[in-house]
Amino acid sequence: MSAVVETLNVRAAPSGSASCKAKEIVPEDANPPDNYVVWNLKNQKRLPPITLSNILHNIYWVSFAVVTVNPAIAIWGFLNVKLSMTTFVWSVIYYFITGLGITAGYHRLWAHRSYNASRPLQYYLAFTGAGAVQGSIKWWSRGHRAHHRYTDTDLDPYNAHKGFWWAHIGWIVVRARYKSGVADVSDLSRNEVVKWQQRWYITVTLLSAYVIPTLVAGLAWGDWWGGFVFAGAARLCFVHHSTFCVNSLAHWLGDTPFDDKHTPRDHMITALVTIGEGYHNFHHQFPMDYRNAIKWYQYDPTKWFIWCMKFIGLASHLKVFPENEVKKGQLAMQLKKLREVQDGVTWAPHEDGLPVTTWESFQDQSLKRPLVVVAGHIHDVSAFLDEHPGGRHLLTKNIGKDATTAFFGGVYDHSNAAHNLLSMMRVGVLQGGQQHGLQDRGVPPSQRLRVARYNEPGDSPYASSACSDSEAVLS
Ligand SMILES: [Zn+2]
Ligand SMILES: [Zn+2]
Repeated sequence: MSAVVETLNVRAAPSGSASCKAKEIVPEDANPPDNYVVWNLKNQKRLPPITLSNILHNIYWVSFAVVTVNPAIAIWGFLNVKLSMTTFVWSVIYYFITGLGITAGYHRLWAHRSYNASRPLQYYLAFTGAGAVQGSIKWWSRGHRAHHRYTDTDLDPYNAHKGFWWAHIGWIVVRARYKSGVADVSDLSRNEVVKWQQRWYITVTLLSAYVIPTLVAGLAWGDWWGGFVFAGAARLCFVHHSTFCVNSLAHWLGDTPFDDKHTPRDHMITALVTIGEGYHNFHHQFPMDYRNAIKWYQYDPTKWFIWCMKFIGLASHLKVFPENEVKKGQLAMQLKKLREVQDGVTWAPHEDGLPVTTWESFQDQSLKRPLVVVAGHIHDVSAFLDEHPGGRHLLTKNIGKDATTAFFGGVYDHSNAAHNLLSMMRVGVLQGGQQHGLQDRGVPPSQRLRVARYNEPGDSPYASSACSDSEAVLS
């Protein structure tokens, strides 16, 4: 895979100091402008659009060969080699071994440093991860850190906004029109195991991807061809598309229970096909957490593997994001959904829009239409006279009167639903009509707890406000 993007550019040290002849490496993002993504995209040279005449110059041929020749070998194998049960089981096991090399090794250990691994575990993961044939640890982690840093922008190497297939496999075989953004991997440049894998990458990859699966099946039960085509090629094909799904499917399918600013989503199906990387909405919010799934019953074998490594003393310092902060994200999303429901409901007229009326005026007007006072509010019950479950007579005898006591238990202690319904009949506010200490009776039960934005203006139906004191005719 040759789509390596250099993270550092080299600038000459300031002149004037005669001793400073040596070149100094300054990270490209050392002095970021206000918006680095916009600045970078404006200033970097974009490659010309891909056309039929230049397509051959814009393909990463090594990557292209890996993702085409390997499946071709697998298909040939399915047509020509008998698949024994033992080889099938070995292929599945080796799928998990090499897949975990990517998920627990490349991804959660090296790209995100979500735990510490002992030297033997690091060598094991570097070797098995190479068997997934996805480039070196350093190259892979640089791209992945850029993906997290510039998610959904043109600096994200697998930008989901460029389409499902681009995020899945397009970016691997076709040269992007933009250089992806910088990401610091200096920690990996110093890591002995990462350097070892980089140095012996081709040897380690061939051994891990094809030689070991073939040798095991050949030496143990004599199925050399089966080992090569099923545990080698077919298994690799599944591992490839499993990992690719983290960049495509995990940005398309599912919910956003922690945040909806970007495309990553949580879904069990994605988790099943990616060895537990499918809780991608959580992962993008809390990338340094060694878990993807936070519930015990969710499918995350990578988390279980890391935990087992800790249990046997090969891993330590498993990072877990504070639960309190995780809850904030969940609550924000839940409130957002509730707000949508709240906005879809018709509420009682807001007090600000109702006329304030004296007792005498209320009585005058109730001679013309059936008006009843309850908890300081004037209600027009004309449309409800024949609907009242307690009978028309109980309403008519309270016309022109304050029926607060009767409504709240004097005659019948009405349900919250009845109180909510009553509030829809409000046509005015009685001046001085609330008894001290009973103000909450003036608020319908369904409106006592509301979802309001921090900057909700005073005239919002969800903001509480006092009545105006001008007198007006009831509408
Ligand atoms: Zn992602
Ligand atoms: Zn990640």
